[in-house]
Amino acid sequence: MKDVLVIGAGGVSSVAVHKMAKNPDLFGKITLASRRRFKCDAIAKSVMERYGVEIATAEVDADDVEATARLIEQVKPALLVNLALPYQDLNLMEACLKTGTHYLDTANYEPRDQAKFEYSWQWAYQQRFKEAGLMALLGSGFDPGVTSVFATYIKKHLLDRIDTLDILDCNGGDHGQHFATNFNPEINIREVTAPARHYENGEWVETPALSERQVFIFDQVGAKNMYLMYHEELESLAKHLPEIKRIRFWMTFGEQYLTHLRVLENVGMTSIEPVMFEGREIVPLQFLKAVLPEPSTLGETTKGKTNIGDIATGEKDGKQKTVYVYNVCDHEDAYAETGNQAVSYTTGVPAMIGAALMLGGIWKGEGVFNIEQLDPDPFMDMLNAHGLPWQVKELPEPLRF
Ligand code: NDP
Repeated sequence: MKDVLVIGAGGVSSVAVHKMAKNPDLFGKITLASRRRFKCDAIAKSVMERYGVEIATAEVDADDVEATARLIEQVKPALLVNLALPYQDLNLMEACLKTGTHYLDTANYEPRDQAKFEYSWQWAYQQRFKEAGLMALLGSGFDPGVTSVFATYIKKHLLDRIDTLDILDCNGGDHGQHFATNFNPEINIREVTAPARHYENGEWVETPALSERQVFIFDQVGAKNMYLMYHEELESLAKHLPEIKRIRFWMTFGEQYLTHLRVLENVGMTSIEPVMFEGREIVPLQFLKAVLPEPSTLGETTKGKTNIGDIATGEKDGKQKTVYVYNVCDHEDAYAETGNQAVSYTTGVPAMIGAALMLGGIWKGEGVFNIEQLDPDPFMDMLNAHGLPWQVKELPEPLRF
């Protein structure tokens, strides 16, 4: 049984659903449900026009466990793919447990009232999923997702031991807007304005947000400023690949983005503390999201490429070696294929691949899994086959910073 229920109808979901529909050998009936049905219907229409495949749609508030469980009972999917927001993760995991359904997501749980992401809340479900004989796959996007699979691929095939791992996320795309985020603005700004943290010799080292900058020359993009950041896969990689002494995450930002962000932060617009406005409470960051362009509308104008990958230094056959595994994705190609830009594409495709591997029984297990706990090989093969080809390069020396 390969029927799937996808929750959420933003850019990532749109890509995943287009890709699922394109692969009828991997997926059975596809149902798409979100808070507002018209967004699901728009995706279903595009899928029908492009690939002639019918998608069923429904409306559901994923924060309502009972309502979601009722929908699951009606649809009876083998797998629920959560492409809503991180706030919904725990409620959707509850609904899966209630109905005996496997679960997959692309981002770890965050409470609405704290800008804090960590896996503890979702790892706490380990026993319940195990006892129910169900599998929950966490973080099947690009980062987290592909970047963690790259790390396990390096460990399996390229190095006997990894000593340091740097994840480099570059978006060299230009959407032509003064200020916009490439995925959900609220989640994106919470992530970028949080203090940076990296893992070194068993400890977490915290530095102020966006305070550590390096220049790196990205293949097919060019030289970019990239900044040290905390990113959720650092936590699970430190747990599951404990031999690694240092793990860091870097993301590129342009000057224009950072200038806007600084101003917005200085005037309080990125705060998640509620304020009173005309007699009602509003959260500044949520209001900001309402006035920013919707990421799903950026596809049409975005040009350029993303380049995301892992640089690992370690030992191979007794010698020090540094390898770089990365993918380059073109915004315009992604848009031509699915109607969405590359940031949604690079997340939606791995979500589709993780789902296909679970539905096909290639990745199976009972309990809660991070993606690096599974065999990287079938996932890496599918990246090549489904639009996210990767390359391996040996670097002459480790990163100097
Ligand atoms: P969007 O904001 O574009 O889409 C989110 C969708 O979820 C919207 O359709 C929204 O509904 C829906 N939604 C929100 N709340 C609820 C609810 N209570 N019930 C039902 N539906 C709800 O986000 P993206 O598509 O950009 O991102 C989707 C997910 O992917 C996020 O969790 C994000 O963090 C993650 N992500 C992961 C990446 C990775 O590499 N691992 C990279 C980028 C994103 P509405 O349309 O009505 O607002």
